[in-house]
Amino acid sequence: EATIEVNGLRKRFGPTLALDGMSFTVRPGRVTGFVGPNGAGKSTTMRVVLGLDAADEGTALIGGRPYRSLREPLRHVGALLDAAALQPSRSARGHLLWLARSQGLGARRVDEVIGQVGLRSAARRKAGGFSLGMRQRLGIAAALLGDPPVLMLDEPVNGLDPEGIVWIRGFLRSLAAEGRAVLVSSHLMSELQGTADHLIVVGRGRVIADTGVAELIAAA
Ligand code: ADP
Ligand code: ADP
Repeated sequence: EATIEVNGLRKRFGPTLALDGMSFTVRPGRVTGFVGPNGAGKSTTMRVVLGLDAADEGTALIGGRPYRSLREPLRHVGALLDAAALQPSRSARGHLLWLARSQGLGARRVDEVIGQVGLRSAARRKAGGFSLGMRQRLGIAAALLGDPPVLMLDEPVNGLDPEGIVWIRGFLRSLAAEGRAVLVSSHLMSELQGTADHLIVVGRGRVIADTGVAELIAAA
C-alpha cells in the first residue's frame, strides 16, 4: 500500500531539536509537497522514514511497516536524497547497472529509466562530469529502478534549468497519476506550484499546516 505515515517523530542532534513531534500521512495518487525553510527538518524526516537515521521518539511507516534501510530492495520506496552522492568515475548507465544488479534487475530496466528521465544521449558519459541538473535526473532514475509505489525526493528542483523544472513537474504528476505516493521537498513554496496537490508545511521540526492545494486556494 503506497503510504508514508509519520507519527510524533522527535530527534535531537546535540543541542539542536531537529524534529519536534513531526506527524503526517502521505497518500497515494498525489504529489505531496513538503515545504519549509532550510533547517526545518525535512531531510531528517526523510532519513528517518528510510531508516538511515534513528528518531529518539515516534514512528515512521512505509506501506504500514517500518523501513529498515536503503539496503533493503528498493521495491517499496525510491528516494532521491543527495544528488551529489553518485560515483563520479562510472558512466551514468554503469552507475545504474551497478545499482540494478544489487537488486536483481537487468539492463532492460536500466535503459527504461534512463529514457524516462531523459538521459539517453548522456548515458555513457561519466557522472562526475554531469551538471547538478543531470545528476538530479540520474538520482531520480536510480530511485525509480525498483518501480516503487512510494517515492521521496529531497529538493529535486535544485540545480535544474528551466526546461528541467518544467520536465520534473510533469514527471512527478505522471508518477502520482499512476497511483504512487510522491513526497517532494522544497524550501520554496513557489517551486511546488503546479506540482503538488497537497502541502505539508513545516517549521522547527513540526507540521505547521497540512492542506490540499485546492482547499488552500479556495480559502485565500
Ligand atoms: P531541512 O531538510 O528542512 O533543511 P534538516 O533536516 O537538514 O532540515 O535539518 C534540521 C536541523 O537538524 C537543522 O538545524 C540541521 O542543522 C540539523 N541537523 C541535521 N542533520 C544533522 C546532523 N547530522 N548533525 C547535526 N545536526 C544536524
Ligand atoms: P538539507 O539542506 O537537504 O537538509 P544539508 O546540507 O543540511 O541538507 O545536510 C546534508 C548532510 O549533512 C545530511 O546528512 C545532514 O544530516 C548533515 N547535516 C546537516 N546539518 C548538519 C550539522 N549542523 N552538523 C552536522 N551534519 C549536518
